[in-house]
Amino acid sequence: MNWMTLAWPMVTATCLTLALINLRIAFGEARRVPHLFFTLSAFAVAAISLLELGILQSEDLASCQRLLRWSSIPIAIMMTSILGFVWSFFGAGRRWLAYAAALLLSAAEAANFLSTGPAVRYAVELIHAETFGNVRYTVPVITHGPWTYVEVAAVVLAIVFVAEASWTLWQRGEKQRPLIVGGSIVVFFLVSRGHAILVEEGVVRSPYFVSFAFLAVIIAMGHELSGEVFRATRLSRELLESEHRMELAAQSAKLGFWTWHLATDEIWVSDITRDLFERDPAEKIDFARFVETLHPDDREDVTHALTQALRDGSEYEKSYRILLPRAGERWIAARGKVETTPQGKPVRMRGVLMDVSPQKNAELELSQLRQQLTHAGRVSMMGQLASALAHELNQPLGAILRNAEAAEFFMKEPQPDLEEVRAIIADIHKDDLRAGQVINRLRSLLKRQDIELRPLQIPSLLDEVTALTRADAAARRVRLEITPSSDLPEINGDRVHLQQVLLNLVINAMDAFQNLPREEKLVKVTAISTDQGSVEIGIADNACGIPEGKTGAIFDAFYTTKSHGMGMGLPISRTIIEAHGGSLSAANGQDGGAVFTICLPAVKAAA
Ligand code: ADP
Repeated sequence: MNWMTLAWPMVTATCLTLALINLRIAFGEARRVPHLFFTLSAFAVAAISLLELGILQSEDLASCQRLLRWSSIPIAIMMTSILGFVWSFFGAGRRWLAYAAALLLSAAEAANFLSTGPAVRYAVELIHAETFGNVRYTVPVITHGPWTYVEVAAVVLAIVFVAEASWTLWQRGEKQRPLIVGGSIVVFFLVSRGHAILVEEGVVRSPYFVSFAFLAVIIAMGHELSGEVFRATRLSRELLESEHRMELAAQSAKLGFWTWHLATDEIWVSDITRDLFERDPAEKIDFARFVETLHPDDREDVTHALTQALRDGSEYEKSYRILLPRAGERWIAARGKVETTPQGKPVRMRGVLMDVSPQKNAELELSQLRQQLTHAGRVSMMGQLASALAHELNQPLGAILRNAEAAEFFMKEPQPDLEEVRAIIADIHKDDLRAGQVINRLRSLLKRQDIELRPLQIPSLLDEVTALTRADAAARRVRLEITPSSDLPEINGDRVHLQQVLLNLVINAMDAFQNLPREEKLVKVTAISTDQGSVEIGIADNACGIPEGKTGAIFDAFYTTKSHGMGMGLPISRTIIEAHGGSLSAANGQDGGAVFTICLPAVKAAA
């Protein structure tokens, strides 16, 4: 045993260890091409170092020649895999250069392996010498064959390829990889080849150190590769950490995750999602199973939204109901995003969802309350109109009574004038209709109902409001001037709800005259169409106006300046107009009175 028989096997052992570690990584979870090339080159250097030791210890020419021939195989493998490593690890370099170098080298080494005479390296004589520590070694005197030129050309091409790939990476702003990997490959290629030539030419008297040079290359490559592995480990640790954080956030927000794999139609769901949908942990979920859980009324909508998102890659966002055996009905709000291949083909859809039942129920309750309040407002407003309307109702009822009495009187005649009686009955009929209309208007206003949008003519709406307020206005000596312009488009609205708003505004205007000595009390209602495709209804009076700075506050609930006011008329009116997609605002006019403006979108003219 001497230092030589220790050093070379150590090179072999080191290379084998590195090769095995990287083989494990290359075939681990993530298949990594650079690790595979590294493994191959490390195995090859391990073999080269054993063969090199064999040559250094060979006693006869024949065995030395055999070893030289066999060394062709690991040399070819090592060189080509180093080229492959640079190409896959750098992601740079001219591929044709690498191919050309690998091809020429493989050809030269194959020729060297197969030939029994001089091809690339052929020993013609052995020189026995001694090196420090009195260790004997053998160096062959080499004669070169014609394939040597091919091999030299291949090595030159390989060096050019590595240098060029390193330079490209350097220009991209990366310094470490090109310097350590690229630099060491170029330097040690040159050093090992140079040294071997000098030894074979007898210029330098020392053993071969080819495997040591390549061990240095292997270590440089391994160092950079392990850097990648460390980075990946750190990244996976950070990923795990962020996953924990995300899980915690999802749990506290009760957010459920889901992923729909389109190829297999399998839907992966997180534990929270599974609980929300009352699914067993082992149960497989696919699209059909998901649709089954949906409320029948929502199935089409959800399917349509999902199909659309898949078709145009847009975001999916939907609220829907699910029907569950234990919890009954549940409201879910879901969002999702489509993931596609680089060619744009959708592969999966990933998203989150949460239970929004409490919010939905509160919304529903609120809307019911709002509806009840609106109705209450209407009933209270009717109370104000009731005496005037009773008065209006008195008119036809009185006429009916008088006409009936007259008819009775005529019928008592021995020869009743039937023509007269017929005319009286016709009058009774007319008055009855009039009374019926007053009652019907009242009844429709008192009925509780949801907002239902239908195409409406503004003038007819204003006519009805006039009919309802005429008697009250007359009693208060207020002149009602209602002048809709002639070219008004239709609007989409709910007749009863809009009547409520207009009545409220007209009654408020009339109320504003209370205790106000005015020569002429005037309430003007106008309606015009605007350039923006909407209709503007103005209710203006010449009364006291709205107090300074209160044009906003009057819309607050319970704001009132009246002794018997509720302060709910205007907020209810604004809610109704906004539910129609319009707006209600107040201001003071130039002549001191208040002006309320309702703006409602017109029905779009059919193209
Ligand atoms: P209420 O009629 O019960 O007071 P409203 O919400 O309808 O409730 O009106 C709120 C307040 O707005 C009224 O009390 C009044 O002070 C003011 N207001 C409404 N309309 C007019 C108007 N045309 N002129 C002056 N003030 C008005």
